[in-house]
Amino acid sequence: MRIAILGSGVAGLAAAAALQQSGIDYVLFDRDANPLDGGAALILWPNALFALNQLTSEKISEIAQHPLKTGVLLEETSTLLLQLPLHWMKEEFSRYPICVRRSHLLHWLWDILDRPKIEQDTAIHTEMGRNQKIYVEFGSGRKDCFDGIIAADGIHSNIRKSIYGHLQRPTRYHAWRAIIQNAYDIQWDMAEYWGSGRRFGYARIDADHLYWFATLNYRWMQKDDQSFPSIRHQFSNLPDSIQKWIDHTPNHEIFSHSIYDIAPGYPLSSGPLLFMGDAAHAITPNLGFGGCLALEDAHVLLHALQQEKDWQKACARFAVLRKRRVAHMAKFARWLGEFSQIENHLAIQLRNKAFSLAPNFASQKVWRKLLTYNLLPHHKID
Ligand SMILES: Cc1cc2nc3c(=O)[nH]c(=O)nc-3n(C[C@H](O)[C@H](O)[C@H](O)COP(=O)(O)OP(=O)(O)OC[C@H]3O[C@@H](n4cnc5c(N)ncnc54)[C@H](O)[C@@H]3O)c2cc1C
Repeated sequence: MRIAILGSGVAGLAAAAALQQSGIDYVLFDRDANPLDGGAALILWPNALFALNQLTSEKISEIAQHPLKTGVLLEETSTLLLQLPLHWMKEEFSRYPICVRRSHLLHWLWDILDRPKIEQDTAIHTEMGRNQKIYVEFGSGRKDCFDGIIAADGIHSNIRKSIYGHLQRPTRYHAWRAIIQNAYDIQWDMAEYWGSGRRFGYARIDADHLYWFATLNYRWMQKDDQSFPSIRHQFSNLPDSIQKWIDHTPNHEIFSHSIYDIAPGYPLSSGPLLFMGDAAHAITPNLGFGGCLALEDAHVLLHALQQEKDWQKACARFAVLRKRRVAHMAKFARWLGEFSQIENHLAIQLRNKAFSLAPNFASQKVWRKLLTYNLLPHHKID
């Protein structure tokens, strides 16, 4: 059996780890010459670390050396709204979250896979052939035949578009993110400041490096300029120490993102074709969970392949096991984006009051649902 993995981001490499553990041959493709490089950082929550541990035979201590042990949600004035239950996560899910450079995570996964070749080509579309085979047509003109395909080509997936059309849904806010060095004077390992129609957050990567992100509603931006310097003044209420890091970030190192998600409910598999990661279920980044879901996907694929030796049956099983989970996360992340970007002052005051009065058990209940997928040890498999 030979499977094509189209896209070598988090979802593609994690899928390769699942196939490798299952003894299945695969070929990795990516449209970029250096797909492992670049990008900012990802927060990986305990569910993702559990999945990664299963996929890499317990080697994650190598990348999980800087656990995030303190985390808060604050008003821009630094008034505390909520403590993130990170010690509770450690007790309940055995791990603290971490923040890792995307390139570090991808190189580390690629090393574990024994550095497979990544063929540079752009997948255009797929087509069913005879004898259960499936063809991929690439941008170079190449047409190749496989026993199965994993479409892991991200939120703008050509493969998904060629079958289901354009499914991305816009949001009313934009995001920027970057990594800075020499950030020593930080109080919390992770924090998020909520203002009116804007947010700013950070997470510690290691002793020297910090990842920060910012979001702003479009109506505060100029139509033709999405650069961070053009809206920098919107974040002038943040504490001075934070403004200092922002100003130390070189403009060319700040990534700018229009934020979309994919409406949930579309099939995650079709015969020998499987969708994973953002190609299957891109969610808005309000929880920092999209990459985590891609790692869960790969763990569930590994499980499905242990249950079903037939590729198409394993794909169908994967889709059944993932359907509810990814739909729930898409809905929750989208709702959280709307809720956190509100501008009405009365609504903001009510929201903040509700957060500051919320009992610990209520926050833990929400987090338990967010962090639980159906292969966590204490969860019953559907
Ligand atoms: C602002 C922001 C903050 C985020 N923060 C977090 C976070 O803290 N934690 C978290 O878990 N997630 C976070 N996410 C989400 C996370 O980045 C994505 O969910 C994750 O990167 C998806 O991985 P993927 O492999 O599915 O897609 P991608 O990372 O997009 O990888 C797709 C790969 O496919 C390749 N490709 C694309 N088209 C083709 C084609 N036609 N043929 C061949 N190759 C192709 C691309 O070059 C790329 O290498 C954030 C996202 C944003 C925008």
